[in-house]
Amino acid sequence: MTCQPDVNKYYALALDPIHVGTGGMRLGRVDMSIVREPGTNVPKIPGTSLSGAARTYAAMQEEGKFPHCAGQGQADTGRGYQGHCGRPDCPICVTFGFSKGDQGSFQGLAQFSDARLVFFPVHSLAGPVWVTCPDALKDLEIPGAEPEDHQVRVASGVKASGRLNLGWLMLDVASNDFALQDQVPNVPQDILKHAVLVSNKMFGHIVNDNLEVRTSVSIDPATGAAAERALFTYEALPRASVLYFEVVVSDPQFYKIGDKAPLQNNGGKQKVIKTVEKGLTLFESLGVGGMNTRGMGRLRVLNLSAGGAE
Ligand SMILES: [Zn+2]
Repeated sequence: MTCQPDVNKYYALALDPIHVGTGGMRLGRVDMSIVREPGTNVPKIPGTSLSGAARTYAAMQEEGKFPHCAGQGQADTGRGYQGHCGRPDCPICVTFGFSKGDQGSFQGLAQFSDARLVFFPVHSLAGPVWVTCPDALKDLEIPGAEPEDHQVRVASGVKASGRLNLGWLMLDVASNDFALQDQVPNVPQDILKHAVLVSNKMFGHIVNDNLEVRTSVSIDPATGAAAERALFTYEALPRASVLYFEVVVSDPQFYKIGDKAPLQNNGGKQKVIKTVEKGLTLFESLGVGGMNTRGMGRLRVLNLSAGGAE
């Protein structure tokens, strides 16, 4: 018996454009920008957004847990909200943590990493291709020689020789032997056959130059017409982007809530994994991030039960 936590690895495919906003408005040319990695500027989905959505969706599927165990923790008598139950047998509070002010708090046994971009779809004259780079593949423990900034390595399905355009950018095809098929079994073969490898530096540029940027309009609910000065611009990761994240799950038997080991008679570690995956299942229909009502945010997790649940 060991207290080594499980690291469960998940791949996710964007079924819609994904907008996870920074909360900042009016930054440069875009009103509503998305969260980025510091340093590389590559967009990501913060782990807090993933675990927040997973918590809500898991609570919706657990008898008697929604909305109180789904939300923010502190009770609000004005709104009739009881807050987190904080019980050692509650799969939601044990998995995602709880905070009850002076009555204590608990970190939660499932810790979500940020979801990082691995394959980013771009139009080329050879059809759609999915761009990646050595830094993105390092997370998946896939080694790869970095091409020069002006070069690209392409997979066998990309019909290009000499040069390949990625959006407006033209790069030299250094080789067509970029093969990932056996190394990322959970990602659709069609994406892997059309994968292209660029340098770490170019990856950030290509992604940021090819994000979805759309202009939309706010509707005034009172009149049903466009609100005054209501035009706004937002950016999003495009549909068919592939992201990767990890969920680290600790074994409840090594913890105590009050004087009890959590989930002792309610499934233990398998229950934690199952609760996480119940939440992740609904990403596909209910989405993550903002503007879900505008058809954004649906994300299919490609390898549920990676954690070996049931
Ligand atoms: Zn609870």
